[in-house]
Amino acid sequence: MFVQSSSSVTENLSNSVEKVIQLSQSQSSDGLKQKYETYCRPDLVSRLKGASLDVVYQSAEGDYLEYQKGDKTIKVLDLVGGYGANILGHYHPELVAYWQQLLQVKVPIMAQASCRSGAAQLGEVLTQPLGDYVTILTNSGTETIEAAIKHAFLERRRPLLWAVKGAFHGKTLGAIQLTCSFGEPYQQWGPNVHYLDPQDSNSWPETEEDAENVSAVFLEPILGEGGIKSLPKAFLNWLSQTCHRENIPIIADEIQTGMGRTGCLFASESWDFQPDYLCLAKSLGGGLVKIGALMIKRERLVSAFSLQHSSTFGEDDLSALIGVKTLEIIQRDQLPRRCAKLGDRLLQQLRQLQAQYPEQIKDVRGQGLMIGLELQDQSESASNTLRMISQHQYLGYFAAGYLLHVHRIRIMPTLSQPFTLRIQPSAYITESALDHFVEAITTWCKAVKSLDIVHLMSFQVDLPTPPIKIQPATPISKREQPQTHKKVAFLAHLITAKDAALCDPALSILTPEQQQTFLDKASQVMGPTLFDSLHVTSQTGEIVHLSFLGLPLTSEHFQEAWKTRQTHWLLKQIEEATVLAKQQGCQVLGLGGYTSIVTRNGRRLKTPGLALTTGNALTIGMGVLSLQKASQQLNIDPSISTLAIIGAAGNIAATYALMMAPKVKKLLLIVRHQASGKLNQLLEQIHAVAPSTQVTVSEHIKDLRDC
Ligand code: PLP
Repeated sequence: MFVQSSSSVTENLSNSVEKVIQLSQSQSSDGLKQKYETYCRPDLVSRLKGASLDVVYQSAEGDYLEYQKGDKTIKVLDLVGGYGANILGHYHPELVAYWQQLLQVKVPIMAQASCRSGAAQLGEVLTQPLGDYVTILTNSGTETIEAAIKHAFLERRRPLLWAVKGAFHGKTLGAIQLTCSFGEPYQQWGPNVHYLDPQDSNSWPETEEDAENVSAVFLEPILGEGGIKSLPKAFLNWLSQTCHRENIPIIADEIQTGMGRTGCLFASESWDFQPDYLCLAKSLGGGLVKIGALMIKRERLVSAFSLQHSSTFGEDDLSALIGVKTLEIIQRDQLPRRCAKLGDRLLQQLRQLQAQYPEQIKDVRGQGLMIGLELQDQSESASNTLRMISQHQYLGYFAAGYLLHVHRIRIMPTLSQPFTLRIQPSAYITESALDHFVEAITTWCKAVKSLDIVHLMSFQVDLPTPPIKIQPATPISKREQPQTHKKVAFLAHLITAKDAALCDPALSILTPEQQQTFLDKASQVMGPTLFDSLHVTSQTGEIVHLSFLGLPLTSEHFQEAWKTRQTHWLLKQIEEATVLAKQQGCQVLGLGGYTSIVTRNGRRLKTPGLALTTGNALTIGMGVLSLQKASQQLNIDPSISTLAIIGAAGNIAATYALMMAPKVKKLLLIVRHQASGKLNQLLEQIHAVAPSTQVTVSEHIKDLRDC
């Protein structure tokens, strides 16, 4: 029994809400970032940091989010729009009022195994625009897809699913099989999927032969995460005919496209056929609640599915009624029409911009307020920095960092097409807010064209952004096509942060501390880059083709990581370099600078098909050759001579000892401490490779006299 009166509960509540707000405000944003990184998402945070996207937002309203920077509140225009979940914007006032009302009347949230009134109403209103469908409510997009997979397998018991190349359908174990970009590590652990290529009509007839084994096909009317790409009409025609003939259910995933965003309530309305199942989530919850819906044509429904798919939180009245209200607002305010009008205007503006900056903008596409702006890859830019960023697929993320900090606009690239920025604000966004975006992206294009890395990157080191200035081109790397099969690579890093200016002279206006900050951030997201590839001729006349690989790291990064025993991220970058070397067709990779030390002379790396060499190996190889040459010149026969090795317990000298032991009569090992454990190990190894060689050990350099 509740013993408190409702007024005292309200009073206590408002006190405790205030306390929670005070508590979160009292925590510094840096502290919260650190906690989020430590306790929640270590890898994500380091990537966000790379492009200064690691912001802690404190409040949200309409199309704006706010965060605190020192004592300033920064208001940011939100074009990410909850990845398409915010068709009504943050905290739509009418929806919030309705939500509060529902709480006030104590609408049941937990009333499982009863007839759920919210679900009943939502199911009914969803059929109004669509016809006779049965609705199964879920908690998220990916759960909706799971439910659809399960129903499809019940309805048509075949082993295969079809999906579209580049598709994204969620990240739970079943849905991720249908998701091109993230599915790879889980491929053997879920349903078998064949990906259809909507652009390659030649592949369709062969695919058709498999139709008999297919349970269902999943389609996003516009690929969202895959780069905002519509499906060609010819593909849809072929697919609908094939599916109709074979009775394969077509499942429309409208989780991102649905609820008015593309200019009609559901994007599949423009198809010549109706989907057999329709999946919804995201904006169905009006940006306030987590809800999804799987709608199945009644004639296809397997009735046992009512028991086959349920969840504790699915069908709660609060979320379902918010869904009903959201639909009501969308229809009453004619939001699909608004999205279409605003989207057409924006598309036109961006296409004009593309015509003006064809080297910076590759494509503009989309429908309604689901627009993709594809940036041109700058991997061959005349700026070394832009080239590196692009080669690491980070151009879109750096553009997002620039727009956030310089123009106060929040935007993100699509997941599997990182050069495509996606624009998905609320349907209530104003024309002037969209104009602000167009102006900002115009400035970005101008700065990229001017190679003005200082204008584009000042935010990374917290400097005010200077006006755009045309910068000189940095020397383009040499790219010689290999004329020998002997191909080697060398991996190096910067000695100090100041050396960054050697790669890009524009960076020389930064102080050494700012250059260090710049590299600290860049190194979170950028790994090895191919600089020059050229032929090198030795004095002997031998020619090799050398690929020179550089890491955006300084000696200090290595020393710090070594000291704190946090070398895993450096190892990862060095491993990436071995992959890059192999991709270049190299047989050998030389580990330069500290890269050999953190990999324990390469022994911590697994590189099948690629030999590793280090500075130590080179030193020893050269030393052994010199010893042989010197002994010939001086007429010394090693097999009857004594060879002394000074500092024999060290890495380099121990290897000399092992290599030379079989070739000489006696070895004298000069060491600092005879008791060293390493020495005993070395003596055993020498005995194993050269049992007849006499070995003596001394701590006295004067014993060299006998050699
Ligand atoms: N399907 C599509 C088309 C999506 O865009 C998404 C999410 O972005 C999902 C499914 C998965 O939805 P959720 O993130 O709610 O699991």
